[in-house]
Amino acid sequence: MIEFKNVSKVYGDGTKAVDDISFKINKGEFVVLIGTSGSGKTTTMRMINRMIESTSGEIIIDDKNIKDENAVNLRRRIGYVIQQTGLMPHMTVYENIVMVPKLLKWDKEKMRKSAESLLKKVDMSTEFLDRYPQELSGGQQQRIGVIRALAADQDIILMDEPFGALDPITREALQELVKNLQEEMGRTVVFVTHDMDEALKLADRIAIMSEGKIVQYDTPDNILANPANAFVESFLGEDRLQQTATMQTVDQVMIKKPITVKSEATLGEAIKQMQARRVDTLLVTDVEGHLQGVVDFESINRNRKKAATIQEIMTDVYYVKSGTLLGNVADRLLKREFKSIPIVDEEGKLQGLVTRTALVDIVYNTIWGDNEASESVPLEKMSLKDSE
Ligand code: ADP
Ligand code: MG
Repeated sequence: MIEFKNVSKVYGDGTKAVDDISFKINKGEFVVLIGTSGSGKTTTMRMINRMIESTSGEIIIDDKNIKDENAVNLRRRIGYVIQQTGLMPHMTVYENIVMVPKLLKWDKEKMRKSAESLLKKVDMSTEFLDRYPQELSGGQQQRIGVIRALAADQDIILMDEPFGALDPITREALQELVKNLQEEMGRTVVFVTHDMDEALKLADRIAIMSEGKIVQYDTPDNILANPANAFVESFLGEDRLQQTATMQTVDQVMIKKPITVKSEATLGEAIKQMQARRVDTLLVTDVEGHLQGVVDFESINRNRKKAATIQEIMTDVYYVKSGTLLGNVADRLLKREFKSIPIVDEEGKLQGLVTRTALVDIVYNTIWGDNEASESVPLEKMSLKDSE
């Protein structure tokens, strides 16, 4: 655990870069420091490994004041990744990766093994070990930069805008990589960025900085739901705040046990079910609960003489996959004038039902601004006939 207690940093020229901040970072947590340029992010981060000495206050790591530790030792047990990768051009990839382990006097075998296994984790072949950084693409170089920070088994990794110089696709791949590595290896990561999308994607908690102070420190969800002040709001941006309500998934508003009938049920049984439950339509499932279609009272009545089981008269039904964001489907659901829409899981099993009324209540008033809504998630129409 890393704890800042009333920490300030005043530079020689009188600049108050960090102004009396107090916050805690738990073990294994991914914390993102975000803020405008000059807000004190880098200074805050570098005080953790004493690349910058604080002017006042205390920084405690695992119950020890870092002032009481040898600064060089401290630095070696904390990984550090910067934007320009910081790879040494005249050293091979291998030599770069094992720089710190070497300083820590690991034996050769252990270093080699560690380098190889880390390279695998970032989907690079061990052939790269003998190459030089300039023979690698920017994305590959940054992967090596990330690996190097992990190579000496450091519990804490500091990353200062590590992906700022990369193209969006490489950047996204590396964000995913870092998040996975962190979760898998249980490292504590402190990550600086000025990109809110990056912060929201990676962080367990985000510290929003402005003029040397932390103005809000909370989970992405809580920050989006309750921005602490106008600065945070403007930093998040209007669009994103509008999106948050739509970030609820259909699962959060669905009725969990919709009224159903099995496909092999008789029409009479279906009618009974309708009367008992006071509904005029029923979702149809197979014995395992896979959604098959829908029947309504009218069609049962019409086919009373012609059909024996529900299977013969049910019709296709539109459905939405579990996990779909309300914001991606709500407007179209409402426009289509469905009374309700079933929600199915990956295997097509019925999970619940979102009613139009629920949608109108939840969505319409709270979130539906003027913007023409999204197009990303298709409403899927199940066509039993097609699939047969
Ligand atoms: P950020 O990383 O959020 O952009 P920094 O922590 O680098 O911000 O800087 C915070 C403030 O401290 C800025 O006003 C910056 O100009 C100032 N600053 C940073 N480093 C120094 C330095 N070595 N000497 C004087 N002022 C500095
Ligand atoms: Mg900076």
